[in-house]
Amino acid sequence: MTDSETLAERLRDGDLRLYELDDHADHDTAAEARRRFVEGETGATLETIGDYSFPAEAAESNVENMVGAAQVPMGVAGPVAVAGGAASGDYYLPLATTEGALLASVNRGLSVIDASGGSTARVTKNGMTRAPVFRVDGVVEAAETVEWVAENEPRLRAAAESTTSHGELLGIEPYVVGDSVYLRFSYDTKDAMGMNMATIATGEACDVVEAETPASLVALSGNLCSDKKPAAVNAVEGRGRSVTAEVVVPGDLVEERLGTTADGIVEANTRKNLIGSAKAGSLGFNAHAANVVAAAFLATGQDEAHVVEGSNAITTMETRERDGQGSADLYASISLASLQVGTVGGGTNLPTQAEALDVLGLRGGGEPAGENAEALAEVIAVGALAGELSLLAALSSRHLASAHESLGR
Ligand code: NAP
Repeated sequence: MTDSETLAERLRDGDLRLYELDDHADHDTAAEARRRFVEGETGATLETIGDYSFPAEAAESNVENMVGAAQVPMGVAGPVAVAGGAASGDYYLPLATTEGALLASVNRGLSVIDASGGSTARVTKNGMTRAPVFRVDGVVEAAETVEWVAENEPRLRAAAESTTSHGELLGIEPYVVGDSVYLRFSYDTKDAMGMNMATIATGEACDVVEAETPASLVALSGNLCSDKKPAAVNAVEGRGRSVTAEVVVPGDLVEERLGTTADGIVEANTRKNLIGSAKAGSLGFNAHAANVVAAAFLATGQDEAHVVEGSNAITTMETRERDGQGSADLYASISLASLQVGTVGGGTNLPTQAEALDVLGLRGGGEPAGENAEALAEVIAVGALAGELSLLAALSSRHLASAHESLGR
C-alpha cells in the first residue's frame, strides 16, 4: 500500500482525523490521502481537484484539510494606460471568473479608456481598521475611557506598532453605545492588505486600554471595523484604500466604439445606478463593480470575502461639452470606498496568484513600502471603471442581451 492509501485507511478506521494527516506525511501525500478518503465516503471523483500544479506546501498557511485546488479560468484584459499616484504606464489586468462575457466587456471598456488617453486614478484615503468592543459600567465610564484614549494615543501607538515593522497606527475613532465602547483603530499597512497585522497590533493596544481604564475587552472585533459585512461605516469612512478612477471619453469614440452617445450613457447611469440604487436601498451605486473586484481578487490572491466591501462603489457619468465639436464628451468615474488589497501576505504568495501579480508588475513589497498595493488598487479601479462603461453602453445601445447570448451561453 502507498503512504496515502495507508493514511486513508486510518482515516476510515477513525484512527486519524482529517487535520492530523500533515503530522504523518508531507502535504501532497496528506492531500492525496484526504482525496482517497473523501472519494470513498462520497462517491465523488476528485481527479481534477487533485491535478494542481503547485506544491501543497506553498498553500500551508492558506488552507487546512487541503484536498487539491479549485481551478478558475483566468483571462487578461488590456492594455490600458494608467496615470495614478502609484500606478504609472500600461497595464494588463488578470481576471479569474466563470462568467462568460465579463472579460470581453472589461476589455472593451479598457480599450475605450486607452484610446481616450488612459485613466487617471488616485488613492485618496488609506487605512485598514479593527474595532474592538469593550464593556463599561455606564456612560460615565464610557466617557472616561474615550477621554483617556484621546489623551494617550502615543502610548497606544507604541504598543500597537511594537508588533510590526511595517504597520503604522493612523488614528483611533471612538464610538459609544450605552455601556459598550468601540475603538476603531486605523492603520497604514503598506503593501499588506493588513487584517492580520491590524488585528495583532490592536490586540496589543487593547491590553494597555484594559490596564489603564475601567473598560474590559469583550471582543477584539466589535463589527464596527467592519470586516466582510456590508456596512455604511466603510462606505463613509473608508476601509483599506478609497480609490477613484476617471476618464474623459471623446464623443466620437463613444459613438464609434460603444455604439451610443454620452447623453445615452449618462441617462442610463442616472436612472439605473443612482435613482434605481437609491430606490432599492442599495449601498452600492454602480452597475457591476463586484464583477471586476471579485475576478481581480481571485486572480491576484486577495481575500475574496472582501468583495463585500471592496465592491462598494459610486459610478458617476457626465457630459462635457467641447467647443467646436458636435457630440459631447463623456466624463466617467468610479469611486471605490473600501478596497482592501495587498501585494504581500495572504494569498498573494501562491504560485498562480504571484504570477498574476507579475503580469501587473506589482508582486511583493513596493519601493517605498505601500507603493505596490496602492498601484494595485488604482489598476483594479480602472478595471471596474471599464466594466461600468462597457455595461452602461451595452444597456444604452440595447446590446446587453445579445452579447450575453453569444458569449456567455
Ligand atoms: P500577513 O500575511 O498576515 O502578514 C503580512 C506580513 O508581511 C506583515 O506582517 C509584514 O511584516 C510583512 N511585510 C513584508 N513586506 C511588507 C510590506 N512591503 N508591506 C507590508 N507588510 C510587509 O498578511 P495581512 O495582510 O496582515 O493579513 C492578510 C491575511 O489576513 C489574509 O490571509 C486574510 O485572509 C486574513 N484575514 C485575517 C483576519 C483576522 O481577523 N486576523 C480577518 C480577515 C482576513 P511586519 O508586520 O513584521 O512588518
